[in-house]
Amino acid sequence: MSPSLQSDRLTWENEELASVEAGTKFQVSAFDFRSDITTSTSGRQFQAILGVSSNDGWTASGSKVFEDKMADLAGRAASLFMISSTMSNQVAIRTHLNRPPNGIICDARSHIMHQEVGAIGQLSGALPLAIYPQNGLYLTLEDIEENIVLSDGTDTCTCPTRLLHLENPLGGVVMPVEEMKRIKQYADKHSLTVHMDGARLWEAVACGAGKLEAFCSQVHSLNLCLTKGLGGSVGSFLVGDSEFIRHAKWVRKSLGGSMRQPGWVAAAGWAAVGEVFGQDPSGQDAWRLRRTHDLARRLAKHWEDLGGRLVVPQQTNMVWLDLDAAGIDEDSWESGGQERGILLHCSRLVTHYQISDEAVVCLEQYMADMMQNLQQRRRLQTRIPRPEAVARLAKTMRRGLELARLQGYRK
Ligand SMILES: *Cc1c(COP(=O)(O)O)cnc(C)c1O
Repeated sequence: MSPSLQSDRLTWENEELASVEAGTKFQVSAFDFRSDITTSTSGRQFQAILGVSSNDGWTASGSKVFEDKMADLAGRAASLFMISSTMSNQVAIRTHLNRPPNGIICDARSHIMHQEVGAIGQLSGALPLAIYPQNGLYLTLEDIEENIVLSDGTDTCTCPTRLLHLENPLGGVVMPVEEMKRIKQYADKHSLTVHMDGARLWEAVACGAGKLEAFCSQVHSLNLCLTKGLGGSVGSFLVGDSEFIRHAKWVRKSLGGSMRQPGWVAAAGWAAVGEVFGQDPSGQDAWRLRRTHDLARRLAKHWEDLGGRLVVPQQTNMVWLDLDAAGIDEDSWESGGQERGILLHCSRLVTHYQISDEAVVCLEQYMADMMQNLQQRRRLQTRIPRPEAVARLAKTMRRGLELARLQGYRK
């Protein structure tokens, strides 16, 4: 048994023990690459639930203790506990954009464009200007400057940009702190607001791209998710200054997002933070996340060694395979995986902390078998794209990188 496999086992034995003590059954999602939302609630989360006072949060304003801890971790004044990241982003945007006309600049590949039901239109009446980053990886100040609509209303036909929406990481690719600083300075100069969808910001910190507060200090508000890589059961956090959070509480309430006794959910969430990220904002204790990055790197390299292409480079816990270029259709990719006990979704592989080393070996073998006939296989005929958001997103990701290459931004 490899040392890593051994430490996996020990970890899960502890989890099993913790969940038995908590009176629950714990099952690891060891072979599930569909997303990092597929992790099961860990034993330590169940134990944390048992340890809380049932009255925490009676003001229906959320879990104060937990919110304060999260704000501290992010190095900001205040935070608000949310049901989901969608709610967190939408409450933030609605709070910022309280005086139409409202223009938003965001990445064409961002979650708010593809996976939030068009809610920025419904809730904030905002017009998104979705742009492809010219480097194929992340938005830069130059991308924003080229597309910005700065208007004082003299020309009444324009929809002025009010908000810059940054997603970090996006598709597993990190926007560096330096770029965020440039964007924030520009935004401040032009009285624009910057919101960051940092659902998976933990991953950026874990891979060494910067400390949590370094990212969090470069925006007016940000969303942090508990249920992706951290494996928490419920919730997300909206973080920002006190005035902003005070107003966001109204908006959250208006959307039905206030919770009566969220203390036990919050306790599970805090346990997930401690267990998977650690409580040090430098991310030095996030070895569980770093392991998932190593696994993703290994899978990406294996795929490329087999002659496969990636849709975007692998940096954190995601690998976007170019199945089209390999002549593999998504349906057979998924069903073939399932026959071997591996769960796959579209062309994106996500490694989370419950993925086992055995599953990676199994997936590597599956890749090799699928790619064996690559030379003989005909290119796929153009298909109607699958309706799944991730499949559509993969197409958008690839288009972005291809545009960048055409423009000579990347070799
Ligand atoms: C998953 C995700 C969301 C939405 O999260 P929910 O909790 O499912 O609403 C928002 N932004 C990003 C980047 C995400 O990955």
